[in-house]
Amino acid sequence: MVRFRTHSGKLAPLRAHPVPIMIHPEHQRRAYLQAMGIDVWMPRDATDPVEEAGQVRSEGLDWPELRDCVANCTRCELSASRTNTVFGVGNPEADWLIIGEAPGAEEDRRGEPFVGRAGQQLDQMLFAIGQSRQDVFIANILKCRPPDNRDPKPSEAAACREYLERQIELIRPKIILAVGKIAAQNLLGTDDPVGRMRGRPHDLGGIPLVVTYHPAYLLRSPSQKHKSWSDLCLAARLVAEGSA
Ligand code: URA
Repeated sequence: MVRFRTHSGKLAPLRAHPVPIMIHPEHQRRAYLQAMGIDVWMPRDATDPVEEAGQVRSEGLDWPELRDCVANCTRCELSASRTNTVFGVGNPEADWLIIGEAPGAEEDRRGEPFVGRAGQQLDQMLFAIGQSRQDVFIANILKCRPPDNRDPKPSEAAACREYLERQIELIRPKIILAVGKIAAQNLLGTDDPVGRMRGRPHDLGGIPLVVTYHPAYLLRSPSQKHKSWSDLCLAARLVAEGSA
């Protein structure tokens, strides 16, 4: 019999717990622990967390299936706090794929990326190169909002990565524009600052990628807009060269 020690030091039998103990599925338990800031250690030979969580793998999915898969995702703790997933918006056959960081409060509420002031700034950047929201596709590193707009955790970006990769496979854009540090660092797998990544072409699995400043940063630092303009011109040139 299980016993616990009373205040007097005597051993007493453990009585029935007054609160019913809930048995949660493993993936849910892990998400709760992560949400509480508790590190979850996994044995090296642990089964794939995506499969173990009963989640569908996104490879081979078509666009509506992928959208559905994202809408039902519980791969990370952000699924517990989101209002809506933010799949992305625009033309699924776009030449330009714009990738930002993660949904904010308004994006979470509306299920659409870049809808606040940063979104208006992004629209202006697109307008400057003769594109609109409807022409391009806009997505983020994360499909769900991190609480208090904190940076995405590496585990969250890793859990979400497969979705973005499948979107890239399906869209087959001519150019990827990574806006801001978080997008660029995650896509290129580096800790470099934007200043070192921008201004030259990169390659993401055979697709040219250009890094530029995040629209929210440009709102705070309008003196940097000319650099962003030159990044956009570089990206437009790469599209033209790729189409030639
Ligand atoms: N909204 C988004 O969707 N992404 C960002 O990176 C910032 C705001």
